[in-house]
Amino acid sequence: MTNPDYSPDPPSPCPRRIGLFGGTFDPIHIGHLASAAFAQEREHLEEIWFIPSALPPHKRRAAEHMKMPSPEQRYLMVQLATLDHPRFRVIDDELRRPGPSYSVDTVSALQARQDEPTQMQLILGMDAFAEIETWHRHQELLALVTFIVLSRPGSNAPACLSHLSSETRSALGIAVDGALDSRSQAVPALSASPSQGARVRFLEAPALDVSSSGIRAAIREGRSVRYLVPEPVRHLIEKEKLYK
Ligand code: ATP
Repeated sequence: MTNPDYSPDPPSPCPRRIGLFGGTFDPIHIGHLASAAFAQEREHLEEIWFIPSALPPHKRRAAEHMKMPSPEQRYLMVQLATLDHPRFRVIDDELRRPGPSYSVDTVSALQARQDEPTQMQLILGMDAFAEIETWHRHQELLALVTFIVLSRPGSNAPACLSHLSSETRSALGIAVDGALDSRSQAVPALSASPSQGARVRFLEAPALDVSSSGIRAAIREGRSVRYLVPEPVRHLIEKEKLYK
């Protein structure tokens, strides 16, 4: 029987294309997984590399007094969640590196390690992409990778694009046709296509209104998260009494 998740690659993808999916994954949930699987298939990515980020303790919201997973436990949850997808891998670079981890350093280090030509595409939800200008050395990052931006319930592309400066839009090769209507859910017409040098692709991902913060809140309040996280992740959370 053929595995639909590992159908043969389309002809002549050279260099190989890898999707990098970073996040705190605290915990990883079906929104992450369905979006990553969608992007992999739609963009014919050879693999998706999940990159759990370091989470400085001060970033935790004060209201959340709960048993937080260690970085190793977050990493383990991502591993458990991705094990059965043949094109998903987990990268622990950001958890091993001391101090703050910046995407620009992670991408540079990963690129330096590849011994075949590799094009890296950063996958992120629209909420995260709207914040890109706050990222450390973001101009360098914009030059280093291309972006796959996934729609997410509650965010919309016009509002997201209107957040970005004209410098960033032009670095990304985006020209927007017409005015941005921030109430519209539609992905706006972009006058640049990848073949014309656009460095960002907007994808309408399956709309799953699931978030890690929602899952943490549900657990804290004693509600079930069955079907919102993969079963092995739910079992680990229960066994270790996380987020209680
Ligand atoms: P939190 O609720 O704690 O902010 P989160 O659910 O947004 O967490 P992260 O680990 O911060 O999860 O997200 C990693 C990446 O996955 C981000 O780029 C985010 O936009 C994206 N993402 C998270 N949930 C979804 C979803 N349901 N659909 C599409 N993208 C998502």
